[in-house]
Amino acid sequence: MSVKKIMVRGMMGLSGFTLFAAGGLTVRYHLGRQRADRIWHESKYPPLQGLGAVKKLTIMPLIDFYASERGGEQLLGEPGVSYLVRADDTAILMDVGYNMRNEHPSPLLRNMKALGLDISELDMIFISHAHVDHLGGMAQQKRHSFALSARTSDLRGIPAYVPVSLSHPTARTEVVREPRVIAKGVASTGTIPRQLFFLGWTPEHSLAVNVEGRGIVLVVGCGHQSLQHIVERAEMVFDQPVYGIIGGLHYPVTASRQNILGLPVQCFIGTGKCPWDRITKEEVEENISFLQSRNPRIVGLSPHDSCDWSLGAFRDAFAGAYREIRVGEEIKI
Ligand SMILES: [Zn+2]
Ligand SMILES: [Zn+2]
Repeated sequence: MSVKKIMVRGMMGLSGFTLFAAGGLTVRYHLGRQRADRIWHESKYPPLQGLGAVKKLTIMPLIDFYASERGGEQLLGEPGVSYLVRADDTAILMDVGYNMRNEHPSPLLRNMKALGLDISELDMIFISHAHVDHLGGMAQQKRHSFALSARTSDLRGIPAYVPVSLSHPTARTEVVREPRVIAKGVASTGTIPRQLFFLGWTPEHSLAVNVEGRGIVLVVGCGHQSLQHIVERAEMVFDQPVYGIIGGLHYPVTASRQNILGLPVQCFIGTGKCPWDRITKEEVEENISFLQSRNPRIVGLSPHDSCDWSLGAFRDAFAGAYREIRVGEEIKI
C-alpha cells in the first residue's frame, strides 16, 4: 500500500474515532441531563431544623482571578477559588484554589502568609465540587483528593465537607449530599447535580450562612448547579430569605480566564450546555433579572469563571449591593 493510501486511511480512522467519541459524549450528556432534571424534581426537603444564626460574617477571598496588594506586595490571582469564611467564631476554608503549577508553597499558602493567616486557625474545610480549580490542581483531582499546597498540610483531623467521595491524609472528610447544618448558623445547601458535556457528572453544593436579622448568605464555588436552582434550594430548606450571594456562577460570555492552545476553554467547558452552544448575554441578563426578583442586598460575582462583561452587567444591575471579589479584600456582612 502506498504511503498516501496509508495516510488517507489513518485520517479516516482518526475522524471516525473523533466522531465516535463526540457521539458518545453527546449521548452521555443528554442522558445525564435527564437524570439531573429528574433528581432536581425529586429532591424535596423540609425546612432545616436547628440552624441558628451568626451575628458576624466575613468572606476573605484567598484565591480568585483578581488580586489586590498587601503591604506593597502583590497578592496572587488564579482562575480558581478559595475563600476564608468566618461565621462568628467558626473559620471555614471554602475550596482550596487551583495551584496550576503544583507549587509548594502554593499561591493559596503564599496569600495566606501575606495576609497573616495560618492553617492552624481553620475549623473546617468545605469543598464545593470536585473540579481542578477548587481542589488545588489536576493531581488532586486524579487522586480524588484536595490539597492546599503541593506538600501535605497538617489539617489536624478537622472536618472537610465534600460533595463526592474525596480523601485527605490529615482531614476527616465527610460526604454531604442532603442539606445539613455544619456549624452554628452554617449549613450546606445539599448537592445539586449538573451534567457537563466534557467534565461529566458534577454534584455541587454551596455554603449557606444565616446572619441574624438579615437572612441567608450563599457562598458559591463555580455555580454549575445554576443560579435558579441554588436560590430555589435555599428557599426550600431555609426559613430565612436569601440576603446575599457571593461566588462563582460561570458566565464566560466574551472571554475565558483559561485559554489552552488559544481556545477560550471556559466558554465550552463547564457551561452545562453543548460546546457549540455558548452562554449568551441574554442568558446572563435573564439570570440577573431572576436574582433581582429576590432583591438580594449583597451580590458578588467571582471573576474566576465569569468574563469582565458579565462582571460589569452584575455591577450595573446591583449597584450599591454589589461587592467586588478580589484576593485580599474582605467582604463584611
Ligand atoms: Zn470554578
Ligand atoms: Zn467547576
